Amino acid sequence: MLTTTETTHQSTTPYPNDKAYNPYGAYLKQRFGGRVVKITVDPGFSCPNIDGTKGRGGCTFCDETGSSSRTVDKQDDIAEQITGNMERMRKRFKTSRFVAYFQPHTNTFAPVGTLKSVYDQAMQAHPDVMGLAVSTRPDCVDDEKLALIKSYQTGFTEHERYVSVEYGLQTIHNKTLALVNRCETVEDFETAYRLTQQFELDHCIHVILGMPGESHDDMMATAKQLAAWRVAGVKIHMLVAMGKTPLAKLYRAGHWHPMERQDYIETVCDFLEYLHPECIIHRVAGNGHPQHVVAPQWMTQKFDVMADIDAEFARRGTQQGQRYTP
Ligand code: SF4
Repeated sequence: MLTTTETTHQSTTPYPNDKAYNPYGAYLKQRFGGRVVKITVDPGFSCPNIDGTKGRGGCTFCDETGSSSRTVDKQDDIAEQITGNMERMRKRFKTSRFVAYFQPHTNTFAPVGTLKSVYDQAMQAHPDVMGLAVSTRPDCVDDEKLALIKSYQTGFTEHERYVSVEYGLQTIHNKTLALVNRCETVEDFETAYRLTQQFELDHCIHVILGMPGESHDDMMATAKQLAAWRVAGVKIHMLVAMGKTPLAKLYRAGHWHPMERQDYIETVCDFLEYLHPECIIHRVAGNGHPQHVVAPQWMTQKFDVMADIDAEFARRGTQQGQRYTP
């Protein structure tokens, strides 16, 4: 294990920060002149990979919360979910700028009228809500849905709003997507991504390191492809077995082994070195409630992992984009 050290990195990006990569927080701060915080919203949608539309049972790593951070109670209506968390976030992060983040399950998996209703409720929940982020599967968007999301960028008030769509790609390897029962392909992502570019929508692509059967080269191939696509943002997670998931069963039966902590730290640094230097990094380590994480337990210390990623970059003397080749 690395010894966590204080590191100060000289930023070479337009977003002042002390990391060897472009953290999302610094990007938002630069763009909006102050700290911006996301508040998770759960509209109670399902997922086509759970309800039988494309598959049943979901991805092998998906638990009953739909891969959420468990910060909201979906019994509350949308406005209550936002205002209920706002005061706590206001004190903790000392900010009054919030983005409504539709996170759990698939947040475009409903008719457009229903989507408009829940997005409207979020944007109208409080005057301090200045943006909308929608997390979804690539195979669940179309022109109409992306046009609706785009409409919140300028159509709600005279001020610029932050609008973003987040896609769970996870890996560019279809064999891996099949192994984790994703029920979609990299070609689905390419279609959604082209459409997203046409709408000039800000976006973030979720990837998972440590997927079953993937080598280091496989993971780096995902990084290189994301760089080649010139995606605007990337969110990096490690594969985690949460309670009551098929992955947890595989782990207990000895059929899946999570990444070792040090391996993850070094792999994240390698991954970031292959990304485009301007790509915004939304996250370098996932978080999970210790009560629900089966393995690896080290992932519950997210901030220690992040500090050791900083330390590894300092040890290498490298930064994001170091190995990017156009
Ligand atoms: S696509 Fe997302 S919500 Fe659907 S099963 Fe997979 S992880 Fe869960």
